[in-house]
Amino acid sequence: MSTSTSVVTEEQKPDLEQIEIWKCKATECKAWVRKEFVTEAVPTCPLCKGQMVRSYKHVPVTTKKGNKKFLVGKKRF
Ligand SMILES: [Zn+2]
Repeated sequence: MSTSTSVVTEEQKPDLEQIEIWKCKATECKAWVRKEFVTEAVPTCPLCKGQMVRSYKHVPVTTKKGNKKFLVGKKRF
């Protein structure tokens, strides 16, 4: 047997990436959206319909693994 499983015990901090976003100008409103999802030149807040401003946000890098653990029903015998 030569199945060597490398066990990583050290805590791995997720890499952060800086993304461009639009965020709501209203301080009490937490709405923000990725810039790449915005088609309008100047979007309006989907929640309060207020103005939005360009900003930046640090989010964990999303790795496209494609292993969705999505169990749609169990087979029962
Ligand atoms: Zn808003």
